[in-house]
Amino acid sequence: MKNKQALVLGCGVIGLTSGIRLLENGFEVEIVAAKIPPDTTSDVATAYWYPFRVSPPEKVLPWAAFTYNRYMELAEIAGIGVGVFNFVQIFDHKVEDPFWKPAVKDFIRIGKDELPPGYVDGYIAPVARIETPVYMDYLVTRFKESGGKITKLDKEIESIEEISADHELIINCSGLGAGKIFNDKEVFPIRGQLVKTANPGLRDCINEEEGPLAVSYIVPHGTYCILGGTADDNNWSLDVDPKTTDEILTKCRILDPRLEGAEVLGERVGLRPGRTEVRLELEKLPSDSAIIHNYGHGGAGFTLSWGCAEEVLKLVEGLNN
Ligand SMILES: Cc1cc2nc3c(=O)[nH]c(=O)nc-3n(C[C@H](O)[C@H](O)[C@H](O)COP(=O)(O)OP(=O)(O)OC[C@H]3O[C@@H](n4cnc5c(N)ncnc54)[C@H](O)[C@@H]3O)c2cc1C
Repeated sequence: MKNKQALVLGCGVIGLTSGIRLLENGFEVEIVAAKIPPDTTSDVATAYWYPFRVSPPEKVLPWAAFTYNRYMELAEIAGIGVGVFNFVQIFDHKVEDPFWKPAVKDFIRIGKDELPPGYVDGYIAPVARIETPVYMDYLVTRFKESGGKITKLDKEIESIEEISADHELIINCSGLGAGKIFNDKEVFPIRGQLVKTANPGLRDCINEEEGPLAVSYIVPHGTYCILGGTADDNNWSLDVDPKTTDEILTKCRILDPRLEGAEVLGERVGLRPGRTEVRLELEKLPSDSAIIHNYGHGGAGFTLSWGCAEEVLKLVEGLNN
């Protein structure tokens, strides 16, 4: 590659993280996107470190492990929206250790006596919790302060040719949008609805996704909690469904009765960029530009972002050899 210049398509957590790592490795980077924070799917996320609805496990594990360690470092910095809490996952049946266990430190099984009534298995691990409004703002600031430029497009692009002229290197971080732009039939939405409540004093994150309350989780963030949720494949609706809100509240109040009476502060819906597998690979365009695809992170874009950005860098370095 003659020039150390890159155009990133997409300004969610994946585009910003990839862009930051390129800037930090001597590239000039411009992000172009139809939506920029606070209006991306990434801004809607819950969010905590957990490889949810994403594949394949053998690739997800090293990306997730890398990102886990990066968040543990970021959690030391005050005011950027990253903290650490205990992730508690409970089951109404016996389970094996999860595939992601090697990525976390201090993974422990919950003793039978410590499980809530009706549950027979579970585990706890410390993981990162991410306050998306604060953290997305941090990423945008870090990107710009490293010399990056963000351009908001008037409308969504229909084909990559609309932006690829004059760019030798494009990083495609368009999430769900990649389905249309690249006619990728493996991309699909996984709709998620969330409820925000006041925090009545909860500290741990609790998750139940295979039993009677599935899919339910409570994610405490200081003064508020995010309660979830839903994971509906191929549902494109961005409208809040009040019935779903009631169901989320009912299930989460069973999970932790302290939520009974906690003030409801809001509701939101987002479409996770589902794909049969994350697409992270190099493609040569007929124009001779190189495009590195980095999309399809499902319910785990925050969980994989730094690891995937590192792999983008490796692919870019490979272009020069
Ligand atoms: C309810 C919910 C809860 C979640 N909870 C978690 C969690 O706890 N932990 C976790 O790790 N993940 C979670 N996720 C998943 C996470 O939010 C996604 O995996 C992540 O946001 C994907 O990031 P992205 O940058 O690929 O996509 P996006 O944030 O959607 O960004 C895509 C970018 O591409 C641009 N773009 C797309 N198409 C076009 C086009 N045609 N033209 C121009 N620009 C285009 C968009 O404008 C945008 O800037 C959750 C998601 C939801 C919805």
